[in-house]
Amino acid sequence: MARTIIQKIIQNYEVIDYPRLVRLNPNVPWKTRGNGALCIQVAKVDKKNQRKIGEINGRNMTCAPMLVSDLDKNEQNHLAGIVKETVEAYARIDDENTNPGYVLFSERPGDDFYWKAVTRIVALEEVHDLLQKYHAIFEGYKNCRGLIGATAAVCWEPQDRTFELIAYRPQQRWGLKRQVDPLSVQEMDAHYPSTFDNYDVRNHHNRIVPNSPCPILYGIRGENPDDLITASAIVKSEPVESWVVFETNQGTDDHLQRKSITQIKPFESVITQGLVVGRPFTIQGGHVLFNIQDSTGTIHCAAYEPTKEFRHTIRELSAGDVVDVYGGVREHPLTINLEKIYINKLTSLMVKVENPVCPRCGKHMKSKGTNQGYKCIKCGTSSQQPNIQQKPRSLSLGLYEVPVCARRHLSKPLKRMKHDRVSTAIGIVNTP
Ligand code: ZN
Repeated sequence: MARTIIQKIIQNYEVIDYPRLVRLNPNVPWKTRGNGALCIQVAKVDKKNQRKIGEINGRNMTCAPMLVSDLDKNEQNHLAGIVKETVEAYARIDDENTNPGYVLFSERPGDDFYWKAVTRIVALEEVHDLLQKYHAIFEGYKNCRGLIGATAAVCWEPQDRTFELIAYRPQQRWGLKRQVDPLSVQEMDAHYPSTFDNYDVRNHHNRIVPNSPCPILYGIRGENPDDLITASAIVKSEPVESWVVFETNQGTDDHLQRKSITQIKPFESVITQGLVVGRPFTIQGGHVLFNIQDSTGTIHCAAYEPTKEFRHTIRELSAGDVVDVYGGVREHPLTINLEKIYINKLTSLMVKVENPVCPRCGKHMKSKGTNQGYKCIKCGTSSQQPNIQQKPRSLSLGLYEVPVCARRHLSKPLKRMKHDRVSTAIGIVNTP
């Protein structure tokens, strides 16, 4: 729909800066798939300083770098008509999970509403208050919760951002199996280190291709919008009908809030630090579970089966290790669904290597029975402790993430974390 709205409005108006693809709270029970909203900034035509950001039906799509002049009331109503007609033509209103909405603001509210909508559950009344206060033009369909995402997308003021080039299929191919050559995607991935989440070699998962029967052929994510355009030329695929580069909050960790264990609520996403209690264990279906504890409480953590080899790391944790867990919170039972883990401190594990040696005779003592110590059978000397040794740990300190095939849209890949979050994760160790 965003592509089609852009196609229609560039006849008479100017798109300002990149259109935006904004992901909101990934744990909202009412979300449709990736909980995404799209935002386009529109102004009067100004053909200066144009930047190419897409192609629709062989025609260049450009944007202007900044807003030059606002639209008057007639133009706003005309624009609203274009949006309405496109939403009503293309939205899958018949699907029981879709509740679309559109909003037009002539002034951007502050970013508070974005932060609410990306981190928690927002009530419909809150969005209605904002829409009224700003005299927005809007329409919600069915339960109207789409108004929340649409408004939040307008309110986003990026602190961190990435880009996604989305390539679209001609309408006659919608619903057919997608032809995107996996080898060319791996080649693109190798040549463009500023892109991320393209291909999971180990799990044979081509992440740029969606699973749904939607009009999108593929989406390439990355740090640099110009790299995305050249990178897409490497991908061999069926014909691309059009493509557009979006500015996004994907890969930013904007959904995560640092909390202590008792502050954690269902349907949020958190970073919390705790001491591993007990041993991780595997349940039916291959899900790996463990518990952590801080001075305020205890909570379950889970690395579910789709997180594949990430579970090997989790199984190596031991009671006493200190970790920061990153993930979404499910309600029953209250469990953190892991996206990342930072291993802060590894406890030393001691293992018995042999029975103690008698200091007089130099021979190994014999056990007197469970927990009863040892005795030399020659001279009668006894000892309580066997010879122990530190067991080497197979884990190293640092951050671990789920593989590309299990990555959430908002999760910041380790690749993007080298310089920031790692240092904030260290130094908050406060072992209960
Ligand atoms: Zn002895």
